Amino acid sequence: MRKSFLSASMGILSMLVFGCDSISGTGADLKIKLKEDGKINCEIVVPEEAGPVAEFAGKELQDVVSQSLGGKVELLKSPGGQKTAIILGNSKQLKEAGVDISKLSRDGFVIKSYKGNILIAGRDSMKDNPEKAMNGGCWGLYFERGTLFGVYEFLERFADVRFYFPGDIGTVIPKHEKLALPECDILEKPDYTVRKFSWLGATSGTVGWMPKVAGSDFKWKNQMYYRWRMETEYLPCCHGLSRLTFLERFSETHPEYFALTQDGRRYKEKDMAHTGQLCLSSGIRAEIYKDAEAFLTGKDASTRNMKHSKYGNRCFWDPSGFQPGYFDIMPQDSFYPCRCEKCQAHYSKGDQATSDYVWGMVVEVAEKLKKNGIPGCVNMMAYTPYRPVPTQEIPDNVRVMVAVGGPWYMDKGDAFKRETAIIDAWRDKLKGKKPWLWNYTCKFAKLAIPDIPASTPMIIGEYYKAMSSHIFGAYMESNALNEEVAHNLFIQNYLNHYVFAKVAWKNSTDVNALLKEHYQKMFGSAAPQMEEAFKMFEKKWLEIVGKPIDTPLGPQSITLSDYDIWEKVYSPGELEKLKALFDKSEELTAKDADSLKRVKFIREKFLAPVIAQRAQYAKNQEAINDLRFYVKEIPSGEKINLDGKLDDPAWKSAAEISLVPHASEKSKKETGIKTKVKALRNGENIYFAFDCEEPEMDKLLSSKREKDDKEIWKDSSVEIFLNPSNDRNIYYQMMINADGSISDLSASKKGGKYSMDWKWNSGAEIAASKGAKGWTVELAVPVKNIPGLKYDRDFPANFNRNRCLSKETNDFAILFTWSPFLKNGFHDIDNFGYITFSEPKSSNIIKNSSFNGEVKNNLLGGKSGWILPGKMKDTEAFSIVDDPFSESGKALLMERKSSENGSFTATQYLPDLKADTEYLLSYAVKVEDLKLGGNRASGAVVNIWDDKNVWFPKNYFVSNMPWSRQGFKFKTGPNTNKPPHKSYITLRIMSASCKAYFSDVKLIPVE
Ligand SMILES: [Zn+2]
Repeated sequence: MRKSFLSASMGILSMLVFGCDSISGTGADLKIKLKEDGKINCEIVVPEEAGPVAEFAGKELQDVVSQSLGGKVELLKSPGGQKTAIILGNSKQLKEAGVDISKLSRDGFVIKSYKGNILIAGRDSMKDNPEKAMNGGCWGLYFERGTLFGVYEFLERFADVRFYFPGDIGTVIPKHEKLALPECDILEKPDYTVRKFSWLGATSGTVGWMPKVAGSDFKWKNQMYYRWRMETEYLPCCHGLSRLTFLERFSETHPEYFALTQDGRRYKEKDMAHTGQLCLSSGIRAEIYKDAEAFLTGKDASTRNMKHSKYGNRCFWDPSGFQPGYFDIMPQDSFYPCRCEKCQAHYSKGDQATSDYVWGMVVEVAEKLKKNGIPGCVNMMAYTPYRPVPTQEIPDNVRVMVAVGGPWYMDKGDAFKRETAIIDAWRDKLKGKKPWLWNYTCKFAKLAIPDIPASTPMIIGEYYKAMSSHIFGAYMESNALNEEVAHNLFIQNYLNHYVFAKVAWKNSTDVNALLKEHYQKMFGSAAPQMEEAFKMFEKKWLEIVGKPIDTPLGPQSITLSDYDIWEKVYSPGELEKLKALFDKSEELTAKDADSLKRVKFIREKFLAPVIAQRAQYAKNQEAINDLRFYVKEIPSGEKINLDGKLDDPAWKSAAEISLVPHASEKSKKETGIKTKVKALRNGENIYFAFDCEEPEMDKLLSSKREKDDKEIWKDSSVEIFLNPSNDRNIYYQMMINADGSISDLSASKKGGKYSMDWKWNSGAEIAASKGAKGWTVELAVPVKNIPGLKYDRDFPANFNRNRCLSKETNDFAILFTWSPFLKNGFHDIDNFGYITFSEPKSSNIIKNSSFNGEVKNNLLGGKSGWILPGKMKDTEAFSIVDDPFSESGKALLMERKSSENGSFTATQYLPDLKADTEYLLSYAVKVEDLKLGGNRASGAVVNIWDDKNVWFPKNYFVSNMPWSRQGFKFKTGPNTNKPPHKSYITLRIMSASCKAYFSDVKLIPVE
């Protein structure tokens, strides 16, 4: 795809190997001088008629080349005649030199020496202004700017400049004492025409580290988008059918256009996930065609009544689905196969028939467009479940994108081969015309892991090289769905993006050499150590990624568990190795300020966040160890009468735990709805009791089901997970709905792999009961049916609830869990709590740790309990509030409405605190409406005085947080409680305004 331009440029490339000074060396070829004898000998010329792109290119060139040559290079409208002129855009000199700009390809350019000057030009939009576009969103970036690309090539090739990421740390501009170049005649164009990644999708949090740019947060991003020479034309292919306002136009008048659901409704309600699923056997096909024809013939969106309710009923063609000449016809995400008879005649016959039917719609629209002489293309993605190549012919006005995992699965053996075979099957189907790709190098689903670098430039480079004969480009999805995960993502991904950009431009790029050059230019003499560190980050991430699986939401990963990530991949030992590499790098660059700054920056952005996450994991593990559910023996003479009513006297003596909302997005909202679990045992059985509060009993979704019905979780139900062997591998799951039906299975989970065995039978006896304000389940599980269970050892367990109401689809069920540490659904066995059969020793030295009782004379729980402030300001208040998730059901709410200096406290003296002893402090906390004051020590915190002040956490809580449990180990000082020291614990708000909730405060000696 590149023209062989020539021996001249080959010569330059080989010279570049020796570094920049060789260009400015003594070679007789280097006739064109830019700087000589310490004097700048060049000027930039942008002729009046060259247009706004060339004008902007002139400013970019002037800015960078002036820094490189150590003095201001002039920017003129015509050559002065004394110096080497670098003439940009479509100039009269270019015509004289015989270059016809209109013959160049999109995004291509020439760099040509002519009569001692340099001409740089490509096809440019004459109406788009890059400087203005820089301040706007992504749709403004789709215009031709060949001249600007030529300027960047010139800077990289001849001045040795590199654009790794925004700002001076990521931009390498070598200082030249002298600079010259040979006669040249360079013609370039990109190998991949589609060159895109989720760059603009990065959320605002990712810009925190960047120097603030006046005007717009987009500015620096868009500048890098230019500098990396990303695509200038957008081929839309992302669920275009969901962007045609079908819901607005037809949900009332033509409900039959929408997919029929299993329960007889139409898939058009707002609360249905990925709503707007279509019935492709309906009249919607004709509407799709009419929309396509209207768009491709240049009709206004109003002619199709294309009112977007999300945008104040404005009529427009959504640019993410429809671009000049391209109409995206891909169905809504998470494809729902319509349950109507006509659709099912196809969908029920398996993958091939399903794909054939969906592509049948595409073919029908495309053929009709052809028949009616409508110009342009329809774009469609091959995406699960319509990824298999269909049997019918595909007309030549269809452009096909194929969704495959991509680079991160290249090292996964069969997965890569399988994906490549799918791509090639499509290429063959299209009679040799290549498709383009949607790839997944993003932190979605199970890969939504914050702060671990997903930096994998080697495999990304190798992948897009290897794909060169299969595809004409790719969209590398590389974003995250939430702020927490996106926070460090952009900077940690910079090499992924840089290498992608370079290989997409030139498929034959030597990736290894490109990276070696990067380490050298960025880190100087620490290049080998930094290269090793980056290689470690890459290897570790690819290990974490695990194998891909195809889902209706695109390919996703079976990732490693938390345990594997933090005990193996990023174990303390591995982190030490990385630390040592950075230490050595800092030592090696101690006298090279630029390189040292870069080493420190990468340490802060790559290594430090991982270390912090590892520390959080360790803290969680301690808290998990602390999470014990005592299953005591039924008091003698008593028994449990299984009737679904929890009124047996024995239950009163049982320990009780509460379930909290699961941390997944949809369950985060606090409903305040209580779920209590109790357990007891005797020689034969373990008894469990669930008490599920339900204010909307009339909407409760539950019915009698067959034993082992796999869809029982779609009912309001509870679940029990037991791992009696304590291996965090083989475990037993029981799901019981509000009607007392049960499905039970055994499962094993190792690494990323699951297997389930529905043959296992708990033999549980169950009684369920529904009341006005809730429902209960009581069950007896025979111990003999739970292999490995012994009463003399603790083992991992968890308890869950699915709250499913009829007004909502199951996608919006609210999930509850006992262990607050679950991350990846209910099977996250690494993060279960423990069942214990031995009575917990009451070693907590905090009195009234769960805030029971009433406040009298500033005291809660008498003199040995909590001491609250006697005199309070108007801006301060405390109260005891309901906390459905604490053991007592109560929490202390402290409220401070001013962020002025000062502290608001609840204190308890600790006469039992011993000197030189290790303790575990743990407590539950929630922070709302936080505004920090000016003081450095500002926020919510717990503070202990042993023989000095200690703070937990050290840095205070400085942002809002939902209920979470915190755990800290510390050792008391030698003079603890020795006069005059009188030890105490204080819950505090320091110099901040907020609501801070505390409950279940425990201070336990570590044995
Ligand atoms: Zn249908």
